[in-house]
Amino acid sequence: MNFKDIITDCYNQIKDIENEGHLAAYIPELANIDPEKFGVHITTMDQQGFGMGNALEKFSIQSIAKVLSLVLAYKLLGKKIWERVDVEPSGNAFNSLLQLEVENGIPRNPFINAGALVISDILVSELKHPKQDFLEFVKRISNNPNINYCSKIAESEKKVGYRNIALCNFIKSLGNINNEPDEVLDFYFNLCSLEMNCKELSELFLFLSNNGCCTYSKEEILTERQSKRINALMQTCGFYDESGEFAFEVGLPGKSGVGGGIVAVHPDQYTIAVWSPKLNKNGNSFKGMAFLEAFTTQTKLSIF
Ligand code: GLU
Repeated sequence: MNFKDIITDCYNQIKDIENEGHLAAYIPELANIDPEKFGVHITTMDQQGFGMGNALEKFSIQSIAKVLSLVLAYKLLGKKIWERVDVEPSGNAFNSLLQLEVENGIPRNPFINAGALVISDILVSELKHPKQDFLEFVKRISNNPNINYCSKIAESEKKVGYRNIALCNFIKSLGNINNEPDEVLDFYFNLCSLEMNCKELSELFLFLSNNGCCTYSKEEILTERQSKRINALMQTCGFYDESGEFAFEVGLPGKSGVGGGIVAVHPDQYTIAVWSPKLNKNGNSFKGMAFLEAFTTQTKLSIF
């Protein structure tokens, strides 16, 4: 498959379309990003890589990081984590409080904010130095020492993070947060502030194309069964209240973030990352989705 030609073609097709999206201005620092950025990078199972546009420029991966915190919690505690968080699409906004009270503080899935806060609580309990240890884990599984939190973004979100603060306290009142909300929120805001570029993201997520096994070190990051489940969750819950539409248009497991990034995984084939900061009304990158739709159509490589 000549990915290079197809990516070049899709990139050029999508580059100049009218972008109907908007920046995620509710996090003040994200409103300062150049809205015209557009990058894409693929990494294949046989370690080939190709990128275009702003593929080497770091951006705030935001909710994409929720996959990584879930992976570490799953690795540490195994299936016990499903006692604290469910695996169903929520059908509500990513930051909603609505379902929590009737569902006894058990969030619908680990990718909505409520679920990611519970996973953060698990990691705060399990790790000796939560922020440092988590970052070390990410660096190790990606073989990349140049990954870091962005304190400016974390602080910016913390200052206006009333909704996440409310969520964390609400879940605590329902008995599903064990640590102090301040500590859990600090971990969560830092988690969301991780910065990577499309190349780094596509390389990091390649283990999910490879049944949970790191392609360069051969370390088993997750078992095959666990890796299958993470991909299933990305497929059903990875795109806010638009996961059905993403499956319909693109047909790959993946995760998006309000920084405008999307990472998508084709088991046994490749991982691809796209970044374009303007979001559609459901919070997914407008051009990112359009690009991936064109890409899986032209390559005939979606999972369907
Ligand atoms: N830090 C963001 C928030 O909690 C993450 C949102 C996202 O990317 O979905 O609002």
